[in-house]
Amino acid sequence: MKIMMKAPAKINLTLDVLHKRADGYHEVEMIMTTVDLADRIELEPLAKDEIKIISHNRFVPDDKRNLAYQAAMLLKERYSIRSGVAIGIEKVIPVAAGLAGGSSDAAATLKGLNRMWNLGLSLDELAALGSEIGSDVSFCVYGGTALAKGRGEKIQHLPSPPNCWVVLAKPTIGVSTAEVYKNLKIDGLRHPDTKAMMTAIQTKDYQKMCANLGNVLESVTLKLYPEVAQIKEQMERFGADAVLMSGSGPTVFGLIQHDSRMHRVCNGLRGFCDQVYAVRLLGEGIPVD
Ligand code: ATP
Repeated sequence: MKIMMKAPAKINLTLDVLHKRADGYHEVEMIMTTVDLADRIELEPLAKDEIKIISHNRFVPDDKRNLAYQAAMLLKERYSIRSGVAIGIEKVIPVAAGLAGGSSDAAATLKGLNRMWNLGLSLDELAALGSEIGSDVSFCVYGGTALAKGRGEKIQHLPSPPNCWVVLAKPTIGVSTAEVYKNLKIDGLRHPDTKAMMTAIQTKDYQKMCANLGNVLESVTLKLYPEVAQIKEQMERFGADAVLMSGSGPTVFGLIQHDSRMHRVCNGLRGFCDQVYAVRLLGEGIPVD
């Protein structure tokens, strides 16, 4: 029995870093929401007791560095599973882009193998396991819209934001999240107003959502990679209602309500940026499988 799963990307409507913790991690507060741009994960049982990653994307590791591999390994070890699985990853989400592609693949693998191996785990249990793999995996297990705190693993669900187009533009560079955090100076940061963003979402106030986008990591990535700042300017110039970098970047997204303007922004970016996508917000939590 093959299992097919969708692994959607996320964007950050806010990303704040409060302080560096004694354990070396940063204490964060971020509001994330899933968008309709997804990798496709295909899980197939193997007679041999092994985990095999099949991906035709040269940027995706096919060994234990792959987060989907780590998800399968974690379940195998924790629940003494003796069978194997082939994990096919059809990559649609740009890699190392700030869109949590790897984390979403891991979350989809956890959910799919929960079914394949009849583990009967709840979403909360899968999210707790996910936090052992990476900070964004818990959020990706639930999908939808949420405030994430701690390292990113403490999740408070939110309703769906006011709907709109999301134009994603990824420059050719890949960004290392670790490098961005290493260069972050917490003193003097301009913190986003997370509460105001929560209210904007709860009251479905599109203008307020646009006015409160904020990501403290822009202060690092925009300096390291000036092309990210240029794409932000282009999007604003072509008429996006609001523009922000997602995660540690380099993907920039623009929120846009009107179809005609969405086309204008996409056309304006083509030729300037090779990966441009116009997608919808997925809003509420996605179906479990
Ligand atoms: P985040 O937004 O959670 O910081 P990201 O979108 O910036 O993540 P990913 O696309 O998850 O970054 O990839 C970061 C690195 O992780 C890649 O360079 C790659 O080596 C590794 N990786 C591990 N598993 C995967 C996977 N399933 N898909 C893509 N990259 C993966």
